[in-house]
Amino acid sequence: MQLDLDDRVTLELKRAKDNDRLLHVYLFYGGDKKTMLDEARFFACNLYCGCLECQTCKNILEDKHLNVKHISILADKTMITKEQINDLEAEFSMTSLVEGPRVYIIDGIDTASQAAQNSLLKFIEEPTYKDVVYGILIAYDINNVLTTIKSRCGLVRFMPKSFEQAKDMLANDFNLDDSFMLASLSQNINTCHELVEDEAYLNAKTLVLEFLNLENSKDAVLFYMKNKNLSKLDLTYFLNILINIYRETLTVHKLLSSLIYDKITMLKQAYSKTVLEERLQILLKAENKLKYNVVEKNILHELIVLFF
Ligand SMILES: [Zn+2]
Repeated sequence: MQLDLDDRVTLELKRAKDNDRLLHVYLFYGGDKKTMLDEARFFACNLYCGCLECQTCKNILEDKHLNVKHISILADKTMITKEQINDLEAEFSMTSLVEGPRVYIIDGIDTASQAAQNSLLKFIEEPTYKDVVYGILIAYDINNVLTTIKSRCGLVRFMPKSFEQAKDMLANDFNLDDSFMLASLSQNINTCHELVEDEAYLNAKTLVLEFLNLENSKDAVLFYMKNKNLSKLDLTYFLNILINIYRETLTVHKLLSSLIYDKITMLKQAYSKTVLEERLQILLKAENKLKYNVVEKNILHELIVLFF
């Protein structure tokens, strides 16, 4: 499994652990979702083993370990709810059946209401659990986290790695199209060098270009029939790349010439800003459905229906 880590943060947490100075709750902020989440899971792995290869590590990385609880915004919600925090507290008040430290990861704590954050604060300040527990809170806007929570956590700032920066960095090693597409999938240069030869990446690349060439619903149906058995990874890459293409149609001013940028120019000319925005929202929703294990072919089918 490829993890996107922030080397500085990894080192900081490793040092704390090696020196027995780990805090019980950390607040991660400033980074992109995948990096912060990967770092949180990596932190949990290191409490157990850290090899990333054994069954324990794999279970943690795949959110299947009984002692590691990953809480994220539910598919039909826009925020972490108070119920989720209460459930966490209830679960952790019972001793775990599995030996070893327990970890909870709350992805998007900044979305939680004040009441929900206060529940969490109480959970942190007056623990009802007997096991060793670590918490990782992930915030995208640290201003929306209660000061009282911030003061109880080790604050860990990630370096921002925007898509734009990654794309520019990758342009030294890859052509414009690959830089664009790879930067949509990872901001780590080593990962990108592996990805560029990866089958799922090559599939996604073909899919994206075919998709952008579709002209009518008849073509779209053929495209669907041909690709309906695509894997989850293919679809993830496909959506991530397409999302950035649509984002660029709404933001980019300076136009470069390459396969992808020509398509972006074409989209900009063919559709109004409203349509482009709508399509971007459809893609983001599709990406979200994928995270909640909606069947791949259904997601692709819906996409075709909504686009054509
Ligand atoms: Zn391991």
